[in-house]
Amino acid sequence: MRRAIPFAISLTVGAACLYAAPAAASFSSCIANLKSAAINAGISRSVASQALDRVQYDEDVIRRSKRQPEFKTPIWDYLGFLVDEQRIEDGQAVMRQYDSVLRAAEQRFGVNRYVIAAVWGVESNYGQQTGKHYLPQSLATLVCEGGRRTKFWRGELIAALTLVDRGDLQLNELYGSWAGAFGQTQFIPSTYKRLAVDFDGDGRRDLVRSIADALGSTANYLKRAGWQPGASWMIEVKAPRGYKGPTGRKNRASLSTWAKRGVVRADGAQLSGGANAGLLLPAGSNGPGFLVFKNFDAIYAYNQAESYALAISHLADRLAGYPALRTPWPTDDPPLSRAERKRLQELLLAHGYDIGEVDGKIGPITRAAIKEAEKRFGMQPTGRAGGKIYRALGG
Ligand code: CA
Repeated sequence: MRRAIPFAISLTVGAACLYAAPAAASFSSCIANLKSAAINAGISRSVASQALDRVQYDEDVIRRSKRQPEFKTPIWDYLGFLVDEQRIEDGQAVMRQYDSVLRAAEQRFGVNRYVIAAVWGVESNYGQQTGKHYLPQSLATLVCEGGRRTKFWRGELIAALTLVDRGDLQLNELYGSWAGAFGQTQFIPSTYKRLAVDFDGDGRRDLVRSIADALGSTANYLKRAGWQPGASWMIEVKAPRGYKGPTGRKNRASLSTWAKRGVVRADGAQLSGGANAGLLLPAGSNGPGFLVFKNFDAIYAYNQAESYALAISHLADRLAGYPALRTPWPTDDPPLSRAERKRLQELLLAHGYDIGEVDGKIGPITRAAIKEAEKRFGMQPTGRAGGKIYRALGG
């Protein structure tokens, strides 16, 4: 597993209670123990000192680690956010810019370059959003908090310091998510240590500043996760109305079997080919269906959620010039793009609601404002940033 926390966790609210920081003395003795553990693991004394001597207990990290998902995000919102026109356009632009690197990675690892670019786009918006938490501090805080996953966090911290000790990175480059995923393609330190490659040949594995290293490392990850060169990852299909037959990523059958079960390709082409696939119906038989192949599992390995693998797969198709999904999602309240989410926040502000900063991120404050606005328009208060409230506000 590449990272500890699924993407969807970002759509959360804080739990209602406050977390008491451990006593200063116990935190500093925990840090001293961690420093000894790092040195015992072979990290130089100077790197261990520089990394840990000044870290402080980071309450924000603990708060984030204890958040519970507020509600289940509908699949169409999740995909609408991750595969919007802007991410497709930006992706096509960076793919032109890094064409030779992407082709070289495709050549060496056998992984489709559109999929490599899609991972980059979803993980960090092509390097634009890589996280602001200083890893030694956030990981040390998670270790010293003493929760269920202490051993895991300790391993990640030591792996992060090993990367610095080896000369792959500088300490001041270790910024990422609160849970330790960092760099262009958001590897956690242990995955970085295991699978990163020096793809630009400068002798360092730098997934923070070297796009070539990051894209090569993502290709290496997918190859190691079982990617089959030249094979499909997903095709959009339509199940018969009211379909009750087999579904599931691992419930594979031949394409001719799916055809016999009444499944048809959404583009109208014949279902043919030798590979086996599973059928995903994330919104039931009335919504879009997907036949997913072994390469879909390699993408799934990157971040174990089917919605995530669907987003990467679909973004890769869009980057390659294929059209949007042909079957509409079964909802009368369609998802908003990132640009529309920002516009929604501006509209809420203009209508006198407090939403904090206009950043396109639908957090607890924006959701509370949406609920109020929904009430005002006589709608069911959901707090969801969808097309209905957007239109009601004049969007
Ligand atoms: Ca390098």
